[in-house]
Amino acid sequence: MSIYFDNSATTPMDPRVIEAMQPYFKEKFANPSSIHILGREIREDIERARETVAKSIKAESQEIIFTASGSESDNMAIKGVAYGLREKGKHIITSKIEHKAVLETCKYLEQEGFEVTYLPVEKNGIINIDELKKAIRDDTILISIMLANNEIGTIQPIEEITKIAREKEIIVHTDAVQAMGKMPIDVSKLGVHLLTFSGHKIYAPKGIGVLYAEERIKDFLIPIIHGGHHEFGLRAGTENVPYIIGIAKACEIIENELEKDIKHVKTLRDKFESRILNEIPDTILNGDREKRVCSISNISFKYIEGEALMVYANEVCCSTGSACTSDSVDASHVLYAINVDPVDAHGALRFSFGRFNTMEEVDKAVEIIKDSVNKLRQMSPLYNKR
Ligand SMILES: *Cc1c(COP(=O)(O)O)cnc(C)c1O
Repeated sequence: MSIYFDNSATTPMDPRVIEAMQPYFKEKFANPSSIHILGREIREDIERARETVAKSIKAESQEIIFTASGSESDNMAIKGVAYGLREKGKHIITSKIEHKAVLETCKYLEQEGFEVTYLPVEKNGIINIDELKKAIRDDTILISIMLANNEIGTIQPIEEITKIAREKEIIVHTDAVQAMGKMPIDVSKLGVHLLTFSGHKIYAPKGIGVLYAEERIKDFLIPIIHGGHHEFGLRAGTENVPYIIGIAKACEIIENELEKDIKHVKTLRDKFESRILNEIPDTILNGDREKRVCSISNISFKYIEGEALMVYANEVCCSTGSACTSDSVDASHVLYAINVDPVDAHGALRFSFGRFNTMEEVDKAVEIIKDSVNKLRQMSPLYNKR
């Protein structure tokens, strides 16, 4: 029996989401662009879904664009602003600990003639506001900083960032994929112009994403998929109706149950974390203990390799670094950026908790990990030489 503590990689679908989607694989199949009665019904369902999604982040429905993934939303936000405002400036600011979907998009734009500043972060994984102020130039058009990090969970001071940016008329995008459903999100309070989240991290299917774009941003955003007039002319392609309905249901559940979810997940995470840190010697928590989302615990087990521990404790599903780097031997760029000793970074595992985990799983996982760490350390030349 596997214990799934990898909810930051993807979540299982909520049965309520699956149920809401069902009719759209069957009788509700019509093309929402069709003007016959069946098509018009689906159009109404999509627009209702858009309203539900908007409400969950305190936005207006015309500010919600459906995409096919968090990665696509990140691409659309960053490339869309870069190309849309290239006459105004060519400088972009991001951070060193962003998800690959942001980092690689910025790298691509560097090849296209844009200039990108990758802000460092402090030891706790949070950017330094003074460094941000220093990085801003007259030709800065965009700041893209994630709301919550996918490896260590730290939350960035987005409200402070947008206050500074708005004074200088700089657009702010935030990747909120790991924040959605883990903390309240209010786009006007955050002050962001653009915000990304993804279905499969919030108990909806893989292959659906959302980009929130403030109304006036939509005027100059450049689409990355051209064609029909879908999604306000910003993202062509017949709508993925079942998945749109699914992500809307997931947002509705978040809207109604966020507090309960946070409390449940945080209780499990904190219990797991304190037991691991107290009961297994030479373990270190990576990132900031306080300023982080409720779902993530990133722990270094000294003297052993994270991969080896995953093999030994294979009933416990978790990640080394982030899932996207699982087949690379490089230590995580996030742990590197927060100055974790490279040896300890190789002994780091990310455990991420979710709605469907239980305290029994936590207790069982702790025992399995304790046992595996002991066995591995007994064999470890590093441990015996210490
Ligand atoms: C998972 C993730 C993404 C990518 O979302 P997909 O829907 O898988 O493309 C982007 N940013 C962060 C922080 C993520 O955790």
